[in-house]
Amino acid sequence: MGDLMKGKRGLVMGVANHNSIAWGAAKALHAQGAEIALTYQGEAFGKRVKPLADEIDCRLILPCDVEDAASMDAVFETLKREWGGIDFLVHAIAFSDKNELKGLYADTTRENFTRTMLISCFSFTELARRAVAIMPNGGSLVTMTYGGSTRVMPNYNVMGVAKAALEASVRYLAADFGPRNIRVNAVSAGPVRTLAGAGVSDARLMFNYQRVNSPMRRNVTIKEVGGAVLYLLSELADGVTGEIHYVDSGYNVMSMPALDELKA
Ligand code: NAD
Repeated sequence: MGDLMKGKRGLVMGVANHNSIAWGAAKALHAQGAEIALTYQGEAFGKRVKPLADEIDCRLILPCDVEDAASMDAVFETLKREWGGIDFLVHAIAFSDKNELKGLYADTTRENFTRTMLISCFSFTELARRAVAIMPNGGSLVTMTYGGSTRVMPNYNVMGVAKAALEASVRYLAADFGPRNIRVNAVSAGPVRTLAGAGVSDARLMFNYQRVNSPMRRNVTIKEVGGAVLYLLSELADGVTGEIHYVDSGYNVMSMPALDELKA
């Protein structure tokens, strides 16, 4: 327990269960004294999130579906009423039809392209706009991305395109809100076994491939990803905005896969 986030309040969006990256972030923030509000998507997730909320002394557990603008409005109205304002926002939300997270990217349908972009990319912009409206003293926003944004990852398909747009949004939002002392960054996590992660075909292969080919020869944990989110939201990162910060055991710096086995 430390006090890096003592006196700070904020919203963490995207906890589905104890494997969620958002949960790693919530725990890291709570351990440093932050007061946290959580959202959940639909009642089924709500039932799973409520016991987790208790673990981090969270009083505000609010429903929010980012496809529904009114539900986003309601969340920020509640935060304003209850707290007056917030200091940080964590956006750990993504969705695409799993039938299109396999095969060719070229086969993506118009309907799923639009929905994937809305939920996984544009929701961050829509939420950022609402969040900064109740950040009179500055603040910090973090979203979650993946390296399939800049390099092709088999089966990641339209989600890679959405993450590329999300990363561009981070830079534009950083420029928009920098003058108000609000920072905007993304954490690019290596593969983690979560509900959303399992939606990508051959997720296990991707997980194992990155493990054996990263400099550290291992995958990352939600604790490690949460630690980077904490850093970006804390005063330690007061000079950092518009960044895509990799937490992937170094996988992104590799050009050639590890071929130790082939030498034998
Ligand atoms: P997860 O399934 O635990 O979390 C995804 C969350 O998105 C869930 O809480 C779900 O309820 C929420 N969501 C989906 N559609 C929504 C909607 N319409 N309205 C509100 N919420 C909605 O999986 P995760 O892996 O923790 O995903 C969190 C973020 O991390 C995502 O942006 C994901 O792309 C990103 N990410 C994941 C990995 C990985 O390997 N798991 C790697 C890098 C980045």
